[in-house]
Amino acid sequence: MRTSIATVSLSGSLTEKLTAASRAGFDGVEIFENDLLASPLTPEEIRARCADLGLTVDLYQPMRDIEAVPEEEFARNLRRARHKFELMGRLGADTVLVCSSVSPLAVDDDALAAEQLARLAALAQDFGIRVAYEALAWGRHVSTYDHAWHIVETAGHPALGTCLDSFHILSRGSDPKGIADIPGEKIFFLQLADAPLLAMDVLQWSRHHRCFPGQGGFDVAGLLTQVLRTGYDGPLSLEVFNDVFRQAEAGPTAVDARRSLLVLQETVGVAAPPAPAVPTQVAFAELVTPDADPLAALLGALGFTRTARHRSKPVDLWQQGEARILVNTGTAVRRDGTQLAAIGLESPDPSAAARRAEALLAPVLPRRRAPEDAPLDAVAAPDGTELFFCATDRADLPNWRADFEDTEHPSAAAEVSRIDHLALTQPWHHFDEAALFHRSVLGLHAQESVDVADPYGLLRSRAVTTPDGGVRIALSVGAAPTDDTVHAQHIALATDDVVAAARRFTEAGGRLLPIPANYYDDLAARFEFAAGELETYRELGILYDRDAHGEFRHCYTRTVGRVFFELAQRDGGYRGYGAQNAPVRLAAQHALKRLTGG
Ligand code: MG
Ligand code: MG
Repeated sequence: MRTSIATVSLSGSLTEKLTAASRAGFDGVEIFENDLLASPLTPEEIRARCADLGLTVDLYQPMRDIEAVPEEEFARNLRRARHKFELMGRLGADTVLVCSSVSPLAVDDDALAAEQLARLAALAQDFGIRVAYEALAWGRHVSTYDHAWHIVETAGHPALGTCLDSFHILSRGSDPKGIADIPGEKIFFLQLADAPLLAMDVLQWSRHHRCFPGQGGFDVAGLLTQVLRTGYDGPLSLEVFNDVFRQAEAGPTAVDARRSLLVLQETVGVAAPPAPAVPTQVAFAELVTPDADPLAALLGALGFTRTARHRSKPVDLWQQGEARILVNTGTAVRRDGTQLAAIGLESPDPSAAARRAEALLAPVLPRRRAPEDAPLDAVAAPDGTELFFCATDRADLPNWRADFEDTEHPSAAAEVSRIDHLALTQPWHHFDEAALFHRSVLGLHAQESVDVADPYGLLRSRAVTTPDGGVRIALSVGAAPTDDTVHAQHIALATDDVVAAARRFTEAGGRLLPIPANYYDDLAARFEFAAGELETYRELGILYDRDAHGEFRHCYTRTVGRVFFELAQRDGGYRGYGAQNAPVRLAAQHALKRLTGG
């Protein structure tokens, strides 16, 4: 199906918006009136620019406060409309959006509304234009799609149809099943937007919190299914008002927007990108650093052994159990030092995983980073993290492990068995896209988003996982873009005995994050522990949590650059990440940073 996007959904000048929409592969645009008014280009120039970019002008919007008004007021509205129709002719737009009136002059009279909209449509028809009438969720007398359709049906004019907008329909809690009663040819336009489920004024909700399908809480796919049943064959168009997108760069936003439509089309069965090859485990986490020594000390104390070295590059493989950490000193590192730059994901079919990623517009990375490297499939996540699709134990496929020469056997007494989860911080413009990316491109499941209090702000966090927990990635975003504490990434290492692992670490000279005594007083009030258990946790700085499934015990190392490690013990199928404890952890990290000045 054809895809379109409203210019209001993107930031920048009209030219920037059009360029971004075209590059992302949209077929058309809705021109938002304010974007035209603010543009130095004439309507003819905008038309030519769209044609050059391969974009059709699918809609001009909005025309407001037209219908159900006294006759002299309606005469003025028709005069205003004539001007707009002339403008649309110059712009090459053949459909105009008329939204239900919010004017205090409007009366509650469906017959009058129908009669006046029919007269508007007759005038539009003279200009070769169609009128698409949309119910605003906060319209004065018309606020539901079935009411708007009833008026359109009563008017009975061929140039008058309805515009359906998923936000207006779903925010009102209307049942989209009734859409099936509308003939497809009378649905002149379809606007799609999602939104988080919030209890707030619907106008404010719409203006500030709309998001792309799949990023919020609405059943946009269910609504689209109803619309497609009518035989609607117009464009799927995104109309998203969102404070974050207004500030984010138009190019990446347009790509994320188009990905959301691709995924939506897949969900309703009208598009079939290659199926996801869901990763099964984390093959490795790669840290880049200007100085390997602090990391080597930390990994050594955690019980890792440097088991192999890359044949041609300054990259060491540190291993313990199935946990593998690459330490790379050969890549140019950003100002903020050590960071988690890449993740290897064990894939049942690495090239299928890459094909799906490419079909869903993920930037595909060059397959070889050096001539002697195994040709691995890799893509970039929205935060820039490189994701490698690996088949570590398959002899028939390119294998990253073959690039490494063994140096030492891993130590036998391993407290750490594997990587439990990876925590990645997202640039704050890209949080919702990041979750949709990991869900759609990798085939992971997204858990509920949680808010975490930080002493100096608020953090939002959302985990994406495989059903069995083989791959767990926690995505988070903080309010303060420059705060390194909030923006630290971490690698959580799974252990069957966090007390033993923590002791081993401290006895080897490692230092755990100190946790305030008040935290343990609170734990004692909330839970019952065996004799001495809480004292051990207090001594080592181990945190505790429990959910409906099981228990979680965890502790943290000090931070190196932007990265720290977590030792994590899950028992009885605990599903979370210790979010309860995150405020205490963040406060402790801030306190330590003030103390050490680093
Ligand atoms: Mg709309
Ligand atoms: Mg964690």
